[in-house]
Parts: sequence; structure tokens; C-alpha cells
Amino acid sequence: MNSRSRTADSTAKAAALIGKQTGEHKVVVDPDLLEGFALDESEAEPVVPDAVVRVENAEDIRCVLKTAEELDVPVTPRAGGTGKSGGAVPVCGGIVMAFSRMNQLMDIDRENLLAVVEPGMILKDFQEEVEKAGLFFPPDPASLDSCALGGNVAENAGGPRAFKYGVTREYVLGLDCLLMGGTGFFTGRRTVKGVAGYDVASLLVGSEGTLAVFSRIMLRLIRNPVGIATLLAEFDTEISAARAVSAIISRGLVPRVLELIDSACVDTARREGKMAIPENTGCLLLIEVDGEEDVIEKEIETLADLLEKQKAVNILAAQDSAQRDRLWTTRRELSELIKRRAVFKIADDVAVPRAALPDALEAYRKAGDRYGVEVASFGHAGDGNLHVNVLWNDEALADNARKTVDGIMQATLDLGGTITGEHGVGHVKAKYLAMELSPESAALQKRLKNTFDPKGLLNPGKLFIT
Ligand SMILES: Cc1cc2nc3c(=O)[nH]c(=O)nc-3n(C[C@H](O)[C@H](O)[C@H](O)COP(=O)(O)OP(=O)(O)OC[C@H]3O[C@@H](n4cnc5c(N)ncnc54)[C@H](O)[C@@H]3O)c2cc1C
Repeated sequence: MNSRSRTADSTAKAAALIGKQTGEHKVVVDPDLLEGFALDESEAEPVVPDAVVRVENAEDIRCVLKTAEELDVPVTPRAGGTGKSGGAVPVCGGIVMAFSRMNQLMDIDRENLLAVVEPGMILKDFQEEVEKAGLFFPPDPASLDSCALGGNVAENAGGPRAFKYGVTREYVLGLDCLLMGGTGFFTGRRTVKGVAGYDVASLLVGSEGTLAVFSRIMLRLIRNPVGIATLLAEFDTEISAARAVSAIISRGLVPRVLELIDSACVDTARREGKMAIPENTGCLLLIEVDGEEDVIEKEIETLADLLEKQKAVNILAAQDSAQRDRLWTTRRELSELIKRRAVFKIADDVAVPRAALPDALEAYRKAGDRYGVEVASFGHAGDGNLHVNVLWNDEALADNARKTVDGIMQATLDLGGTITGEHGVGHVKAKYLAMELSPESAALQKRLKNTFDPKGLLNPGKLFIT
């Protein structure tokens, strides 16, 4: 019997035991239904799990982790399934632990500015509840209407507003967690300050479901900004737009959003009828400021002045919330729209020190030109974090596309950057991790994994594949 059929066999036994203890309606073994858990939004090969458990509470999670460890069954946590690095794909088979039924908001504490949620709550639903309470939760990945907070914490999700407000880690105060085997604990604190012991909560944020499973999440909230204004600046070239980004940063301005959309992405949005932008526009910057009205007015004036000096050919201000929403819908849809530009696509998510942005854009374009494939970039330029898409139509160019991705990774690291800004390593980037981490750092991280999960059963096949 090979290892995959051994896993299938042990999973069948585990699923039966879990069904008896938690309720059979929570366990899925129907092959047609299992197919729906084979993929996320990455380019990872689909792998159908042997069983899915739709957990409803911490006791269900404990039962799955205990039973699975006893029977040597891999467990892959899954929240919204929107991950872009294959994190929720059960590459070694076994059980997928699905969180869609753990989607409750437990508490919003207005006095202490915090909230407690279950990990399956959809981010947009959470943001709406928080805003109803007059508060604000800034992390806003473009997938916000389908990703869930457990996945956001596990990936340390960012999004456009991270430039001013930071990423998910800045908002995680505490986590109720369970280890493989079922031991549960709380890590973190309810207070703003606190330095007792190691900061395990921060370590778990961004751990991609490989160290522990979250059953409850305590998040920091902030006051809702009073007003927002949105600008769209048109440039002839990506390099001038990237230089404008550097100029904004070095001037000390902190808009809440500073997004770049390159010519291929502008062209796609135009062709799809999403944007009425002149044919010769080489690049766009989408900029947003927030705060008190008088502060906004001043900041917009300074920005407009600076953008003109940086060769912006046109600056448009959104006139009302409908115009602003249209711009954001297009920006959020870019990842999907780009798919229609070519038959094949590999989406990357790299980040460079912000001053290196013009050089990075040039290097990515050159990598594509060298191998005869198109490169289309957009994303969080204010953070030096770009989603770089390699596109091609002819199957015979697949190898060239992979070489282009290798070139993009190398150029990013040469510029002092990282192979992933916010989408995580997961399965699809695992082969590149050794390019970034020193052997000593990688060895320490593998020892950490071993301490949390000695049998290597929690989300195997991710991050460290050797
Ligand atoms: C159109 C689109 C736009 C996107 N834009 C952005 C963006 O702007 N910024 C950004 O950061 N990301 C973005 N993403 C990527 C993705 O949405 C984020 O990584 C998101 O945080 C994943 O959340 P999820 O609920 O879908 O997680 P999943 O894909 O279900 O899982 C992600 C990881 O979390 C782990 N996990 C899930 N639940 C738990 C739990 N309870 N305990 C422990 N581990 C768990 C999984 O095992 C997996 O490793 C985008 C994706 C798409 C499709």
C-alpha cells in the first residue's frame, strides 16, 4: 500500500470516529462534495481531501486534532479558500478542517476597542459590524467579501490600507489555539501593552496554518476616520509613477492608500469596459487620504502639487462615493480581469524596499521581454508590494514563463526584497523559500515547526517541503 492510500485508509477510520463524537452531519466523505475543497485561488494543482470536517466549536476542533494525531492523518485548516499560495490545498490528502460554520461575532467591546470573533467570519461581514459600532478594522485584502478572519490571521493579510494602518498582525491581540493532538491554550493579551513571555501570538500570525489552529480571535479596533478622498493620477510611464511613489514617501506623506496599476492592467480594465482612461496612459496611481476634512483638504493639495512635479499628466478626484466605489470595484477585480488577458497566468506577490520600486518594475519587465511573455503588475506600491502577473498564450512558452518567475524572484531578492509580501509561501512558493532564508534561519524555523507539531501532520507540504 503506498502512502497516499495509507492516508486514505487512516482518514476513513478517523472520519468515522470523529463523526461518532461530534455528530455525523459534520463529516463529509461524499466524493462530489470533497471536490469543492481541492483548490484555493492559487495556481496549485488541485488535491481532493479524503474527508472534510465542518467544525462548529473548539471541542470539534480538539476532537479532529486528537483523533488525526493518533491515526497519523494530515489536517489542513480552511477558512474562505481565497488563498493565493495553496495554503488550504490538502496536498498530502487527509482531513480538511472547514471553518465556514464558525462565523460568529462574539463581542465588540467599545470601551476597550476590541472584538472577539470566530475564525470563519467573513471579513466584509466583520467590517460592517465594526463600522455599525462606529469603529474601524483596517486590513482589507481585495478578497474581503469571501476571505475569513482565520485565513487573514494565518496569512497576516494586508491590502491597500496597510500603507497607513499596517497589516493584520498589528490588530491581533490574542488567539485561542489548539495544537495537533488537541491541546488548547490562549496566547496574547487583552491589554494594549504586555511583555510577559514570548510573543507567541505574533509568531502564529502568518504561520499559514502550520503551527496551530485558531478557534477564536481577539482583534484590536480603532476609531473610524471621519472623511475620505480619492485621487487617480495618470502617468506616461510606470517608472514616472514609481518615482512619484518614492517622492510621496520621502516627503513624509502618509495617504491611506497608494496603489499602482501598470499599462497592461489599465489596458485590461479599459478593454473590459471598466475604466474610461486615455489610450496612451502608461500607468495609474490610485491614492486615498482620510481624516478630518481640513486635514484631507491640505493633504490633497500637497499631493496634487507633488504629483504634477512628478510628471502626472492628469489628476482626477472622485466626485462622490459612487465614483469612488466604481474605482475600487475595478481595482478589486483586477486579479480576475487579468485572467482574461491571456490563456495562462502565474500570479506573484513580491515586495521590495520602497525606494527600489522603479528598478523592480524595470527588472520585471525585462525578465518578461527576455523570455517572450507579458508581465502585468499592480498593487500596493506604497508598501513596495506588487502583484506581478506573468501571462502567455502559447503552451510552448510555459517553461519560459517559469524562467521569468525565477528571474522576478531573483531580481526582487537582489533589490533587498522578499518573495512574498502578503500572499504567503504556502505550497506554490515553497521552492523559492531557500533563496531568501539563510540555512541557519531555515533550520531554526524547522525546529520551531517540530516543537509545535512533532509528527508534521498540521498542513504538511507547506513552507518547508524538504
Ligand atoms: C481576488 C483576490 C484578491 C486578494 N487580495 C489580497 C490582498 O489585497 N491582500 C492580501 O493579503 N491577500 C489577498 N488575497 C489573498 C487571500 O484572500 C488572503 O491570503 C486571505 O487572508 C486568505 O483568507 P481565506 O479565509 O480565504 O484563507 P484560506 O485560503 O482558506 O486559508 C489560508 C491559510 O490559512 C490557514 N487557516 C485557515 N483557517 C485557519 C485557522 N482557523 N487556524 C489556523 N490556520 C488557518 C489555511 O490552512 C491556509 O494555510 C487575495 C485573494 C484573491 C482571490
